[in-house]
Amino acid sequence: MQHTQYISTRGQMAAAGFTDVLLAGLAPDGGLAVPSRLPALSPEQIEAWRPLGYADLATEVIGLFATDIPREDLAELTRAAYGAERFPQPVVPVTGLDDVADGLTLVGLSEGPTMAFKDLAMQFLGQAIPYVLARHGQVLNILGATSGDTGSAAEHAFRGQEGVSVFMLSPAGRMSPVQRAQMYTLQDTNIHNIAVRGVFDDCQALVKALSNDAGFKAAHHLGAVNSINIGRIAAQAVYYVWSWLRVTDTVEEGRRAGYRVDVCVPSGNFGNIYAGFLARSMGVPIRRLMLATNENNVLEEFFTTGIYRPRSAQDTLATSSPSMDISKASNLERFIWALLGPEVFVQRWAELETTGALDLRDQLPRMREEFGFVAGTSSHADRLEAIRTVKERSGRLIDPHTADGITVALRIMEPGFPTLVMETAKAAKFPQTVAEALGSEPETPDVVADLLARPQKVETIDNEEAPLRALIEERALS
Ligand SMILES: *Cc1c(COP(=O)(O)O)cnc(C)c1O
Repeated sequence: MQHTQYISTRGQMAAAGFTDVLLAGLAPDGGLAVPSRLPALSPEQIEAWRPLGYADLATEVIGLFATDIPREDLAELTRAAYGAERFPQPVVPVTGLDDVADGLTLVGLSEGPTMAFKDLAMQFLGQAIPYVLARHGQVLNILGATSGDTGSAAEHAFRGQEGVSVFMLSPAGRMSPVQRAQMYTLQDTNIHNIAVRGVFDDCQALVKALSNDAGFKAAHHLGAVNSINIGRIAAQAVYYVWSWLRVTDTVEEGRRAGYRVDVCVPSGNFGNIYAGFLARSMGVPIRRLMLATNENNVLEEFFTTGIYRPRSAQDTLATSSPSMDISKASNLERFIWALLGPEVFVQRWAELETTGALDLRDQLPRMREEFGFVAGTSSHADRLEAIRTVKERSGRLIDPHTADGITVALRIMEPGFPTLVMETAKAAKFPQTVAEALGSEPETPDVVADLLARPQKVETIDNEEAPLRALIEERALS
């Protein structure tokens, strides 16, 4: 098999291997790492994977990206990440919702320890990063800011791991009780929860300030596992292959190869759907990639008008699907690079940096026809309606982010094409909105009640660099 190499979207980085870019974050030229060429999967190849369990399928799919990790090692990493200890089996259940609409299907990405889809990618990093660090004889102190889902997924993935510690900033008093409990109840010595007297943007600004201090960053081995991490993208591609295989399990053998499905993805940083885009580009029979946003609809605007105009934090609304309250999608650069090609990309991207917008109206037909992108947006009222409809017709509870996806799927799905909606979180994580939709608080699952009752460990600091620097100097691995 040929080696998969990574280059930067900005064109100024020497080609590197997966394990090199795994720890790197942004490329030195400010761009994002992308595979220099994508492997092509034949229908026979995909078909041969049908009998595999999730962890073994992950070895195959991630193995296409991580060609510099020996296959036996990768198999151990994926078994540890997706084994019964961390996920109920099957890891990703695929459930028909024909009672809601013919061909509508829910892909359960939220069965992991923090009840959101980020566990699927983060649990892989929780194995792969310590492995790579040990190979290089290094340590890593992960510094991050979270408004909820990312921080808890990272902490649960890295708790108790060798050679890694996590310093996670969160806005004091501004997360939901479940989100707080998922992070602050961890007692592991390598997990440091730091609540900042401020909002999420303040947390992010602190992380940026310390990460931009090259001396401090190097001295304390600081790094990140944010949504641009290539390991997360590779791990997310797995469930697009998995869900297509499960949907076609009952399809006659001769008809499978041409059995195309639509997928609908609640989107924020464009990480989840970008992995779907890669799977489609490699040959998984996905017809349309439906992108769903909430009221923060920068991406919907891009895929319906061809104009990308990121918004500032002040122009970002606080909605009832908070993990999608994003107005500058960090992974979109990777798609635009693929759309325009390396040379044109560099010229046009400069336009975005000087004018604050990128006009790709001439590319709109290709975005639709060649790449399959369509988009829709939903409001708070739409989400409540979707939660009610799904509950009434199927008995199932969905969370507000998944409700964004259901709303858009129901609006634009077409007869004859099964539509797979990615379930990005569990309803129990966002009980208030679910209660508002249904008129009564949903029952708290036992695991959640248990979690809420456990003691919490968190330190609160003022919104200033000095106390954060002091904490890291005292506790970071060296
Ligand atoms: C992170 C997140 C999203 C958005 O995913 P992206 O990869 O950033 O597009 C959607 N829903 C939930 C519940 C999330 O946690």
